[in-house]
Amino acid sequence: MANKPVLAANWKMNPISAKEAGDLVNGILDAAKAQDRVQIAIFPPYIWLLGVLELLAGTNVELGAQNCFWKSSGAYTGEVSAAMLAGICKWVIVGHSERREMGETDDQVAKKAGAALAAGLHVIICVGENQEQHTAGKAAEVVAAQVKAAMAEVAADDSERLVMAYEPVWAIGTGKNADPEHAYRTMRLIRKAAGNLIGQKAGQRLRVIYGGSVNSQNIETYVELPECDGCLVGGASLKADEFSKMINMTAAVYSAGAV
Ligand code: PEP
Repeated sequence: MANKPVLAANWKMNPISAKEAGDLVNGILDAAKAQDRVQIAIFPPYIWLLGVLELLAGTNVELGAQNCFWKSSGAYTGEVSAAMLAGICKWVIVGHSERREMGETDDQVAKKAGAALAAGLHVIICVGENQEQHTAGKAAEVVAAQVKAAMAEVAADDSERLVMAYEPVWAIGTGKNADPEHAYRTMRLIRKAAGNLIGQKAGQRLRVIYGGSVNSQNIETYVELPECDGCLVGGASLKADEFSKMINMTAAVYSAGAV
């Protein structure tokens, strides 16, 4: 069976306590358990992973980390390896723009994606143009180059476990979500660029999702798009009611067979 659409909750560096993390998980479980159309994954900070893992046991919500390191172990103070995460998590995000802004390079993103896939993880690779590139009409060029660089260590066989997230940098955490038509065109380009690297058949198997100021007011405009296999949600995933609403809305769109 083809992969389900995915709804990924990137908690970023939130919340600040274990209690709040637990409340947030418990707050979305009713909505998550009530549907089986959408694959839901939550990405807490490293420190909450084990606690959240316990709360998710026996549920249909999956766990992921927000970053990883490509070496499996050794003298790399402060890093957590993909191989370590694979014992706890199903997923990892690599190349988030908030990490790229702190200096993460295309080459490092490629190594992280390669190590994570080799460790058996499902991987979300984030790509997206910044405001300046967007204004200059360079989104397609920038995104295609990022896809090519980030997928340097990806093989056709990895496609079932690979999700490419189109996350325009100017839309992340700004409240300025991308025009769905622009998102559609760029997601189509991402699939094509990925297919050029690993074969068009494998390119059809991987999932392409949108992220950038998605909330319950606008999520339907993305998940209804033919190229869109779900969303990566940051800020709005920190409110259990809001994220629950988004789960229900996404499941309804896919249940209706609109996509
Ligand atoms: C994200 O963190 O990947 C993201 C898309 O954030 P937000 O939904 O807050 O824009």
